[in-house]
Amino acid sequence: MKHIKRFLGFTCIALCSLQSFSSFAYSEEETKIVAQLRDQALGSNLAYEILESLTTEVGPRMAGTPQDALAVKWGVEKFKALGFDKVWTEPVTFDTWIRKSEAAEIVAPFKHQLNITALGFSVPTPDEGIEAEVIHFNTIEDLIEAEEGIADGKIVFISRKMERFRDGKGYGPAVKARSTGAVEAARKGAVAVVIRSIGTDSHRLPHTGMMRYKEGIKQIPAAAMSNPDADLMLRIFERGKPVTMKLSLNSHAGPEYTSHNVIGEMTGSEFPDEKVIIGGHLDSWDLGTGAVDDGAGVAITMAAAKIIGDAKVRPKRTIRVVLFANEEQGLVGAKAYGKAHANDIANHVTGAESDFGAGPIYAFSSNVAADNMPVVHKMAKLMKPLGIEYVDNNAGPGPDLWPVYNAGMSVFSLKQDGTDYFDLHHTADDTLDKVKPENLAQNTAAYVVFAYLSANSEQKISR
Ligand SMILES: [Zn+2]
Repeated sequence: MKHIKRFLGFTCIALCSLQSFSSFAYSEEETKIVAQLRDQALGSNLAYEILESLTTEVGPRMAGTPQDALAVKWGVEKFKALGFDKVWTEPVTFDTWIRKSEAAEIVAPFKHQLNITALGFSVPTPDEGIEAEVIHFNTIEDLIEAEEGIADGKIVFISRKMERFRDGKGYGPAVKARSTGAVEAARKGAVAVVIRSIGTDSHRLPHTGMMRYKEGIKQIPAAAMSNPDADLMLRIFERGKPVTMKLSLNSHAGPEYTSHNVIGEMTGSEFPDEKVIIGGHLDSWDLGTGAVDDGAGVAITMAAAKIIGDAKVRPKRTIRVVLFANEEQGLVGAKAYGKAHANDIANHVTGAESDFGAGPIYAFSSNVAADNMPVVHKMAKLMKPLGIEYVDNNAGPGPDLWPVYNAGMSVFSLKQDGTDYFDLHHTADDTLDKVKPENLAQNTAAYVVFAYLSANSEQKISR
């Protein structure tokens, strides 16, 4: 008995070490393949070429515009040209908004033209414009706390400046003035609202973006002015005299429109139904050419999947690249995707979206079950040479992955340096020249590591 026990013990030790040796050997081979693909991506110009193509051949692609349709066509053709195994589109239907002319000036006490832009879904002013006294609030919170009727017949101006951070955490607190400014100003009796742009630059370019009305609250026109114009407004207010402004906005709601999510796949070698989701959003705002928001995300993830698809050894699972429709006006494509694939969420192994510009990735985090940590550690090891540190297991989803995340999919977050992102975000300055090819290549390399290892892991990743 004792003898047998010892024998079994010996066998176990022998088998266990043999097994760990074989998985070690396998892992070494995989590590070699991924490291080589990573270095290939790092030396590749493919993501930049894709971005150059999108921003040159399509340009701005606001949801519901003719360029939206052109972008969908571009996406399908680009996936096919890159040799993706499967390419298809899925319909996404939404209400549209059409930008027309927009102008503003300070009439008194000093005459100045202002550089402004209408916020997305703002109602127009009357044809003759609105001329009214301006009432200033430092923050949306100050406006909310102010007494009833304080802005009766006036234009509300909110001047809070967004703070600059690498991770973009200044955006959340500042953007409230954009999304809810019209509702809160109307509650106090205002006839229009103008805000300091939600942006960190000092260029004389206004930042557009989405705003919302609330049922039962009067819909008033809403616009944003450039940072230097907001500074000028504040200097004029310091003089203590009444400030009068004239505002003319002609943008208005348009008809319902059907766009498409564009999807391309590199099929997995062993479990083709199980997939790792990467992607970005194909729509942009209309003022720039959407190079950093979010042409970069589109280009990075298409290039990463292409490089993996061309590898000598295909990962076990499928890499699915989703170019989401209409993110900017309310995650409409993401919601449609979540609905269309609600019965297939169990096959969505994990995912990561690239939608924070074109800066280098400096860190990544995961949101996976504890027994998936070995693959995360492997990822960390292979990302380290890219200057990327592993942070924690508390990752949140990119904006377009919320619906599948809420349905239970695990996610990763590859964190880009967003120090300069809000200088460009939603402005005419969001153009290709702001993008450094070497940063796109570094991003692509990181997505290659993430997607390959996730798709090829021994154990299916879960949350
Ligand atoms: Zn975006």
